[in-house]
Amino acid sequence: MKTDFIIVGNGLAGSLLAWNLLQFEKKVVIIDEFNNTAASQVSAGIFLPITGRRIVRTWMADELLAEVKTLFTELGKLNGETYLHEMPVVEIPASVKEWNEWQQRASSPDISKYISRFLEPNAIESINCPYGAIELKNSGYLNISKCVNFLRKLYLDKEILIEEKFNFANLQYSDKINYKDVKADKIIFCEGAEGVNNPFFNYLPFQLSKGEILTISCNTLSEKQILNHGIFILPIGNQLFRVGSTYEWNDLTTNTTESARNNLNEKLQAVLKTDFEIIEHKAGIRPSVKERRPFIGMHPKHKNIGIFNGLGTKGVMLAPYFSKHFAWHLAHEKPLMADVDIARFS
Ligand SMILES: Cc1cc2nc3c(=O)[nH]c(=O)nc-3n(C[C@H](O)[C@H](O)[C@H](O)COP(=O)(O)OP(=O)(O)OC[C@H]3O[C@@H](n4cnc5c(N)ncnc54)[C@H](O)[C@@H]3O)c2cc1C
Repeated sequence: MKTDFIIVGNGLAGSLLAWNLLQFEKKVVIIDEFNNTAASQVSAGIFLPITGRRIVRTWMADELLAEVKTLFTELGKLNGETYLHEMPVVEIPASVKEWNEWQQRASSPDISKYISRFLEPNAIESINCPYGAIELKNSGYLNISKCVNFLRKLYLDKEILIEEKFNFANLQYSDKINYKDVKADKIIFCEGAEGVNNPFFNYLPFQLSKGEILTISCNTLSEKQILNHGIFILPIGNQLFRVGSTYEWNDLTTNTTESARNNLNEKLQAVLKTDFEIIEHKAGIRPSVKERRPFIGMHPKHKNIGIFNGLGTKGVMLAPYFSKHFAWHLAHEKPLMADVDIARFS
């Protein structure tokens, strides 16, 4: 079988890179071993333009958001599904100090444009919010697993996805790439957290982090907003909510732990005035990067071996824009942005 590109991995990164290359009428063969603990299967999928405790605008927020909305709306239309759910994120400060920080940061136009309104103390039913709350816009969540699994089915139907574990022992590379009976011009690795074991790219500064996430059922919480109080509480329909996530850098297994469950449970009890029931608990590994920029580009020595990885905690925001950006580079030699090009490490 002959193709232009082999893509290893059909998570958010690989499936969207394949999608964009197919739009350029390139031939693609994807090799993926389905794993229900892969980040894209476990993830909450939240996107929002403001990051972290310091209340800063997410890097390239507006450019990234535009691609998020266009691509996932387009993919949803293909089979009449909704993958992207736009809804406010409501930040619940833990102290007067935090509330004041929000007020102060709101004086910057960079931040104020993403704030819909400030809410009075105790304005939200079923929630402890004694200092008030801040409602953000241009936010929501992507049902990542549903979207990625739709693309998986599409690629299986087109007979361009091979379901198996990629084995480096079978890879031959010189001018051309040969993998078993597939001959390609280039191979691109999109292995998520497994990328740390890739012999071509294990020099890149990954900083993997484990995340654990619960699904709870709760009859009294509003399903129209995502709450953030150190943990996210995200409505997914039928009075179910995803709650997470924890951060852990030492235990990089995908086993769920009692300590993470207790931690999330305690935080939930502190913020919810109402009863809830835990019905699921999952863990996955985020393919995070020390300096929080994706890994994109071709190997410094092997020019037909590339990588698209390092989406970290922001897969939903980064993947649409940068899968398209990389596809332009691969299909039409458009230069890569220096901030994301792995040439920055050579
Ligand atoms: C608990 C948790 C919560 C998260 N919450 C959010 C959030 O709210 N918002 C957000 O934007 N991001 C979030 N993320 C991060 C987001 O999920 C990731 O950035 C994104 O899913 C990474 O996609 P990926 O395709 O790079 O990796 P993955 O999803 O891990 O996909 C890699 C694929 O490659 C396959 N693979 C790897 N090696 C091989 C091989 N040798 N052979 C065959 N197949 C292989 C794997 O099986 C998998 O299918 C979260 C992650 C976790 C774990």
